[in-house]
Amino acid sequence: MASLSWSNTRITVLEYCQKKYFFTYYSDWLKSKYPEVWKETKILRKLKSLDMWMWEMTHRIVSMYLFQLKKHILDNWPTPDKEWITNTIRKNMETTFAESKANDYNDFVKFGLSEHFYNEIDDTALEPVIKKVVNNLESFVNSEYHEKIQQRFRKWHHIYIEDPRRPNFEMMKVDVSHIPWLENVSILASPDFGIMFGENNYLILDWKSGKESLDVSGITDQLRMYALKILLKQKNKDLWNRQIDVYEVYLPSLNEKSGTIEQEDIDHIINKILEDVEYQKQFIVEQDVERNEPLSHTTFTRTSSEKKCAWCTFRSVCQKLKELESTE
Ligand code: SF4
Repeated sequence: MASLSWSNTRITVLEYCQKKYFFTYYSDWLKSKYPEVWKETKILRKLKSLDMWMWEMTHRIVSMYLFQLKKHILDNWPTPDKEWITNTIRKNMETTFAESKANDYNDFVKFGLSEHFYNEIDDTALEPVIKKVVNNLESFVNSEYHEKIQQRFRKWHHIYIEDPRRPNFEMMKVDVSHIPWLENVSILASPDFGIMFGENNYLILDWKSGKESLDVSGITDQLRMYALKILLKQKNKDLWNRQIDVYEVYLPSLNEKSGTIEQEDIDHIINKILEDVEYQKQFIVEQDVERNEPLSHTTFTRTSSEKKCAWCTFRSVCQKLKELESTE
């Protein structure tokens, strides 16, 4: 098993429900004791809800568009071909949806929709999701961010566009060798879009789609994390004269959380990671981050929120494991 890792997603899952955290990151420890539950959990780990899929495809469509925009501005390629991009995404989603529908969910799958696993949707569910994804691209193209990005492309030094089709785990890794107590903990973080321009100026953008947070003030921990990653890459934890502007932009509403990173944001996120890792260590044997072996599955408690369970991908195995645990 790989050593303990921290990511914004991982700590969010732990705070959501300890059992869900166990299913997501440690379910292999069920294999010898409850092979049937282990197998079903492994299948469920490959599933996404329609909302998550829509979010993933939104990232993909915006990323495809940005790659073409970059080539257009920097290499004199034609303007981005929105129709081609939209048709490519549409075909991809139609194929994926059909494969998900045809899956035999009694066996391992590469990908599936949890709504297919639970028999909750028919074919009419696809079109609204495609429309949302295309609409999210439209919304971005018609926004001021589009103009802002083009201007920055023209002054580029270094441009990073995440390609969701080819996740680059090496790029996602954060070098934490300069933070005591975090050696041996791997940290993963990668924004959707980043650009370095001028002397020590950075712009970071992250797209969000789906349910919006009611609190639109301030800078999120995820954005702080991206800023910290920039500093750590330069073997540093101090901002000095660097200016890092960060944006978390919701599509299609274009509501944003944004700001300029201050040193206190950096200090805050370092402390937050240290606290989170201490919390995560409570669930592993001898708190040994390198071994990263979980305590018994019974140690991981279930949320009392029925609302959370109603949407949880693991609800089928969670119930089965609950019954088995009650007989232990
Ligand atoms: S079904 Fe509920 S209790 Fe079980 S893992 Fe999911 S959120 Fe947690």
